[in-house]
This record gives sequence, structure tokens and C-alpha cells, in this order.
Amino acid sequence: MTSLSDLPLRASLVGKEPYGAPQDPVPVSLNVNENTHPIPEEVLADITASLAEAVRGVNRYPDREFGELRTALAGYLGHGLDADGLWAANGSNEVLQQILQAFGGPGRTLLSFTPTYSMYPLLASGTDTGWIPVPRPADYALTAEGVAAALREHRPDIVILCGPNNPTGTPLERDVILAAYDAFDGILIVDEAYQEFDAERESAVSLLPGRHRLLVSRTMSKAFAFAGVRLGYLAADPAVIDALRLVRLPYHLSALTQAAATAAIRHADAMLATVADIRAQRDRLDTALTELGYTVHPSGANFLLVGGFRDPSATFAALRSQGILIRDLGIPGHVRITAGTEAETSAVIEAIAALGPGGA
Ligand SMILES: *Cc1c(COP(=O)(O)O)cnc(C)c1O
Repeated sequence: MTSLSDLPLRASLVGKEPYGAPQDPVPVSLNVNENTHPIPEEVLADITASLAEAVRGVNRYPDREFGELRTALAGYLGHGLDADGLWAANGSNEVLQQILQAFGGPGRTLLSFTPTYSMYPLLASGTDTGWIPVPRPADYALTAEGVAAALREHRPDIVILCGPNNPTGTPLERDVILAAYDAFDGILIVDEAYQEFDAERESAVSLLPGRHRLLVSRTMSKAFAFAGVRLGYLAADPAVIDALRLVRLPYHLSALTQAAATAAIRHADAMLATVADIRAQRDRLDTALTELGYTVHPSGANFLLVGGFRDPSATFAALRSQGILIRDLGIPGHVRITAGTEAETSAVIEAIAALGPGGA
């Protein structure tokens, strides 16, 4: 039987592991930060009607420039953006890959502050971009001085600041973004996958005017409850969008994706109506786990990084056997738990309480 090591794989991929969050059909899935609330019925009806209309046209290639969707996304983000400053792809992972294809590559580097989103190093190796992980301080919170010093030391070509940060939940402050932008002359990406959950901070989209190296990445996969559609998007200077056109595959966004996403954005208020409840469930989870003696890190997202587990992989296995999926990210003593519906959140609280001290 042939195995991977028998193949003439690119050197930069040898020994790498694919992205691998478990996909189990369990009753309570709180491991990949989805919005676990269902899509409202009236929105479903409009999306279905839009898809039916789009299907009539699928003998033709879709609008390569997805103008209607870009206009809708610009309207949703506001801040005076228009369609030529918007881009989208099949998930923000694909947007990030296109950015690395255009601005990274052999001889170039991507820097981020770890622990952070596990896809960044994978996207770097997939594009032969060097990966520079810089450890966060003990409380995971970035400071303007710390970030500026790291960028001056390493002089990367691309930097990603994830705010709120996955997997720690740590919010990202505006002064850190501004200090990063001024500390180097490369591409600065702010990954705002969880921005809608952070009621306290304004989107970095407001910082775009006059900053052509600043790119703000967003997704419909989290707050928008649209992970299965695969739609990520970017706000940036129109020249950056022109650069991404050099690497995107022709017609990369299917007519069905464009129709579904455009319809969902028409109902943004209804789609985002669950965000307040998810934040309330997150805070309830925080209070309950703190009372049980665990350490909960401050979060601006729809998940919590929780410390104090004696053996995170044993806790993961114990909960999985009860039909509850959480995430063991290999951070010693820690697990990550997504805030779900009220019932899901109660289920995970009760299951962890029943495990006893240290989750054993
Ligand atoms: C979930 C997530 C994404 C979103 O990925 P999609 O490809 O849009 O589903 C991007 N960045 C971070 C930090 C995430 O956690």
C-alpha cells in the first residue's frame, strides 16, 4: 500500500498534519465556534427562493466579480465602503490563502502571535511562506509596545492580528493595530472572524481610510450562522483587491454561494439576532466554570479558553462519550468551549461539574 511518505511531496509539506477538528455527529457540538442556533424560518424561505432562481442560471458561469454580493457586503459593513473595496471567497481561509499567494511565497514571511488560529501556519506552508510564531504574554493580551518590538525585530512581509483571538478569546485593542501598522511596511491583516461578538470594540474597518496595507478579514461562518455556505470576505484598499484577482481561480464563488450569501445579508438583523443570547450563554459558562474553580480567560468571542484541567485529553474524551464535543488544542491544562444555545451550555456545564475537580 502506498503511504504519504512514498510520494514526491513538496519539501515544505513533509511531516505536516492536515487541519483536523473532529467532525462527529454528536448532540452537543461546541468545538468549532459555530453559531449553534438555527437560521430563522423567514430568512430560510428567502434564501431558498434566491437559490431556486440562481439554479435556473447555472448553465452559465457565475458573475466572476460577484458585484451584487460585494455591494451587499459593503452595505453591511458600512463606514462608507463601496464594492471595489470588498472581496470574498469560499471562507475567510480562502481569502487568507489568496493574500498569502499574492504577498507571501518563497523568501517571504508571515508573523503572528501564538497561541492563535491553527490555520495560519498551514496556510503559510501551503504557499511556501516562512512562518514566524511570536509567543503572546502570559495573559495572551497584545500590547502596542510588544507588537511593535516584534515587528521591528523580525521585519515580516505579512502580519496577522486575530481579534478577538482564536483560541484564547482575547480582544484586540485599536492602539495595538495602529502600532503594528506603523512598525513595519508589509501587509497587516486583522482577522475579525468573531468581531460581531465583541460589543465593546469597533471594527478595524474604521481604520482603513489612508492605510492601503491594512486588510480586514471577516466571515459569515461564526456570528452569521452560515458556516456551511463557506463565505469569507475582506475589506481593503481597491489596489489590494486587484492583487487578489491575480491569484484567485476564475469564477471561484459559485452562483449558489453568491445567491445564498446575498440573500442572508438582506436579513442581517435577523441572522445576528442570536448574538446577544450567545454572549449571555458565554458569560453564564464563564461564571459557572469560575465557580467550579477553573480559570476562564477574558473573551470577546463566542467561546472561552478555560484552564485548570488536569488532563485536557481525558476531559475531552469523557465529554465526547456523553455526546458533547469541546476542543483540546494541546495548550497544557486548557480546553476551548464554544457558547451554544441555553440547553447546550447547560449540558456542558453539568457534564464538567459531574467530572469533579480538575475535570478528571
Ligand atoms: C473560524 C475562523 C475563521 C473562519 O474561517 P472560514 O473559512 O471563514 O469558515 C477565520 N479566522 C479565525 C480566527 C477563525 O476562528
